[in-house]
Amino acid sequence: MDSLFKGAVRFRERSFANNKELFQKLGQEQKPHTLFIGCSDSRVVPELITKAMPGELFVVRNIANIVPRYRVAKEYVATTAAIEYAIVALNVENIVVCGHSNCGGCNALYSTPEQMMDLPNVEHWLEQLAPVRQQVDENYPNASPEEREWITEQVNIVAQLDNLMSYPLIRDRFKDGKLKLYGWYYVIDKGEVYNFNIETREFELIG
Ligand SMILES: [Zn+2]
Repeated sequence: MDSLFKGAVRFRERSFANNKELFQKLGQEQKPHTLFIGCSDSRVVPELITKAMPGELFVVRNIANIVPRYRVAKEYVATTAAIEYAIVALNVENIVVCGHSNCGGCNALYSTPEQMMDLPNVEHWLEQLAPVRQQVDENYPNASPEEREWITEQVNIVAQLDNLMSYPLIRDRFKDGKLKLYGWYYVIDKGEVYNFNIETREFELIG
């Protein structure tokens, strides 16, 4: 924790001092152009892999970068609320759903009930990925465990893009060309980001 306290001082003295004008402007309002939906995983750092500055990305992160299907709920739905706010109040132009390699959330789909025993909330959260697991089991029955890992992560990204279309406001804006949707796959140990090509249905290395 000590390093984080020291980091706060270094941030104020260096990063903030070097970008004072930007932070003063941001102190009055935010106008992010992109909603970034990523995994909570400590290795997935949206601003690092996009080189974005503060104020550019409205970020929501959760286990396995899941987009819950749209509904007006009585529980406390953090991700759905953040998506709603980004679209309606902030008027973002893009949504990126970013999955990643070695994702513990995606891997947990193959855990035994015993392994999930002390994680009831995680288990319940991941029930949303039952269709992803089913799709992988049906379409890739002969995949090795290593192959199954990245296939699941990529199938999950596409499934979450589909879930975005269950939000009436997203569907309308997407059809009118006011909102663009992207599926990204980040490979941690290679520093590579792949973009899902909706026409070819394949992930293509960016750049
Ligand atoms: Zn993850």
